[in-house]
Amino acid sequence: MSLNGSCLCGNVQYETKGEPVLMGNCHCRDCQKLSGSAYIPVVAFLEENVKITGEVKYYAKKGDSGLTAYEGFCPNCGSRICAHAEAMPGLKLVMAGTLEEPENYKPQMDLYVGRANHWDKLADDTAKFEGMPSE
Ligand SMILES: [Zn+2]
Ligand SMILES: [Zn+2]
Repeated sequence: MSLNGSCLCGNVQYETKGEPVLMGNCHCRDCQKLSGSAYIPVVAFLEENVKITGEVKYYAKKGDSGLTAYEGFCPNCGSRICAHAEAMPGLKLVMAGTLEEPENYKPQMDLYVGRANHWDKLADDTAKFEGMPSE
């Protein structure tokens, strides 16, 4: 199963290997703003299992926890493509919409469901968390 991907313009590409640590939809306000949409679907990998080529710019933002999250995007086309966060050491996230085969994305959970909009329909078959699973 390929979980490789790229941004809209193709300048940024990534390859992954191994099993993802998790797949889930984040409905927090930051993800709404970042995506301009309802949520961001993320696939988390061990950092060493993700190889990114091309220039990625990172927007650094402090989360609720006071720790910084680094939101990666392509400076040419603006696609949100990857992220990492101090709150999730050793993990790298890629955005499921950037997968070459997005049908391989199978969300197991929905995060920050308390912040989901009424027009954001959640799947029936996922675990639901008010915040992050660790909280
Ligand atoms: Zn691009
Ligand atoms: Zn989020």
